[in-house]
Amino acid sequence: MKKLVVANHKANLSMSDIGDYIFNINTNLSDKHNIVICPSYIHIPFFTSEKFELGAQDVSIYDNGSYTGEVTSEQLKSSNVKYVIVGHSERRELFDEKENIIKLKLKQCFKNDLIPILCVGETKDDKLSNRTSQVLRRTLLETLNGFSKEDLSKLVIAYEPIWSIGTGITPTIKEIEEIISFIKDIIRSAYKVDVKVLYGGSVKEENIDKLKEVGNLDGLLIGGASNNAITFSKIVDLF
Ligand code: PEP
Repeated sequence: MKKLVVANHKANLSMSDIGDYIFNINTNLSDKHNIVICPSYIHIPFFTSEKFELGAQDVSIYDNGSYTGEVTSEQLKSSNVKYVIVGHSERRELFDEKENIIKLKLKQCFKNDLIPILCVGETKDDKLSNRTSQVLRRTLLETLNGFSKEDLSKLVIAYEPIWSIGTGITPTIKEIEEIISFIKDIIRSAYKVDVKVLYGGSVKEENIDKLKEVGNLDGLLIGGASNNAITFSKIVDLF
């Protein structure tokens, strides 16, 4: 069955890289899985292809209006964007995004029919002090509380252990499997919906064989390795 593979370019690639990137994606990307590419906002209009859907890396908490520097859900929707990454650990950490802001962003996504990819994960400290399940449960319940079942049924979760992002270190197959089940169980029992859960954190060609073994995985969220279209296409093929 096709899975969902999401590319997060973060603040990478220049306008001069985009032509080659799109050419290489169009040449190399297979239809083995469903693909979402989340480029920088300024590159979004150039990413038109039948081979993937478009995602954004963030969204404003505001509706259209006098909010200098912001990009709204309505603007994203009108730019053919279908998915939005919400609550990425880099935004939580570097921009001090807390649950109240993340909730407002989810609200904006649901309002304009955008599919949020909500990122959750534990820090290295949480993991070393055996607090992973406690942290995930609290984050999920605080963030998702108050949304309708209909909205939540559209949600995608990305489990991204913070200690794995960009470090080359990944959890074991068993750890990923257990945490994905745990996340799915929490959401099923609290909100009566089944959600897709992706894994993100140092996904590379070298560990894709291992990640393929994770039985309950619905897809991947790939940062660094998605900035090269040929590498990204290869990972999609190997997954
Ligand atoms: C990410 O930032 O969402 C991510 C998964 O990054 P990387 O693949 O580079 O670890």
